[in-house]
Amino acid sequence: MGQSTLGNKIDEARESFWQVSKDIWNCPELAYEEKKAHDTLVRFFSEDNSWAVDGHYKLDTAFRASWERRGSSSEGREIQIGFLCEYDALPGMGHGCGHNLIAEVGVAAGTGLKRLLETLPDCPHVKITVLGTPAEEAGGGKVDMVEMGAFEGLDVVFMAHPSQEDATYLPIVAEHDVVVKYHGKAAHAAAYPWEGVNALDAAVLAYNNLSVLRQQLLPSWRVHGIIRHGGVKPNIIPDFTELEYYLRTPLRKDLPAIRAKAEMCFRAAAMATGCEVEVIFAKNEFHDLLRIPTLERLFEENGKALGMEFITDITGSEGSTDFGNVSHVVPGIHPNFYIGSEALNHTKEYTVAAGAEAAQFYTLRTAKALAMTALDVLFCPELMQSIKTEFSDVKKNKIRSSRLTEV
Ligand SMILES: [Zn+2]
Ligand SMILES: [Zn+2]
Repeated sequence: MGQSTLGNKIDEARESFWQVSKDIWNCPELAYEEKKAHDTLVRFFSEDNSWAVDGHYKLDTAFRASWERRGSSSEGREIQIGFLCEYDALPGMGHGCGHNLIAEVGVAAGTGLKRLLETLPDCPHVKITVLGTPAEEAGGGKVDMVEMGAFEGLDVVFMAHPSQEDATYLPIVAEHDVVVKYHGKAAHAAAYPWEGVNALDAAVLAYNNLSVLRQQLLPSWRVHGIIRHGGVKPNIIPDFTELEYYLRTPLRKDLPAIRAKAEMCFRAAAMATGCEVEVIFAKNEFHDLLRIPTLERLFEENGKALGMEFITDITGSEGSTDFGNVSHVVPGIHPNFYIGSEALNHTKEYTVAAGAEAAQFYTLRTAKALAMTALDVLFCPELMQSIKTEFSDVKKNKIRSSRLTEV
């Protein structure tokens, strides 16, 4: 219904969407510091008086723009649709993950759908909410926002992430960051080494403990880390070292187990060397992504109608996103999209691709496919019912509905 018109509504305003994207790309800001991106997006929605805009919504650099139309159909249904924007950059490389394009997709899909619905004579009661969700690359702004109730009332949420290919789903696993600090005692490394307590030895032992542990983990679990501080000078026994590790499991329910195993490795290294240790888990853990087959099917159908070519082999990414946490409270979809470049995310080449005009066609095509999927859900009560049933099933079964990696 109205699909080509919906595409037209997005195309009509394509310059303004690209301007938003360019403004964000030109001024990359790190997690929780996206002040200019926040202002750019708030200004965009405020220029159209029909949106109710809440700047600094729940978090300083988050926002909410809402538009509501009372129903004119007899059924009295009410649906709240959410589109999510991300807009944080990476240290040292700008928008190497293309989050400026995620923001653009959210803006374009929300705006296009609103403009189409404004022209329709008959429509269920609908509310469109575009949520600005900061700090995906570090911290997990969506986790904070879930805890603060920002997703309450939404029936379904949509976002899309730039990638190397069009994919309705790529494996998203649960993840938790941990920082480990060893405190020892400095001494001259040649004159009085026996006076020292070697914090670098603790870090090295911890690294090796984790490496040995790896063989005893399920093949689908991941531990990977760095030594962030390893001492200051070879002739000083290091009195301080710091490591950072990411711990990942396909299901969020397994995070406590991997945390406990890793923590034993960290503490054992302290015991062996006589160091004091601090094991500091990040405030937020990221959850696996719950899949909703009906949403994936609809998105793929709409995408194909627009010329998207979806990969069928989804054995690629095993990354993590704070959208996983959202998917446990609202049914949603997080597809990946090609942006006209073979460059890989988190590289300087990808930064260039995310700011290039060539990415615009693919970005807006993805926005159209998302908006069309929202339109399908809006006008077909059976689809919304299937989505709700699938959501409750996938939560009840507590299974990850992707390929089974536990063997
Ligand atoms: Zn990224
Ligand atoms: Zn990203």
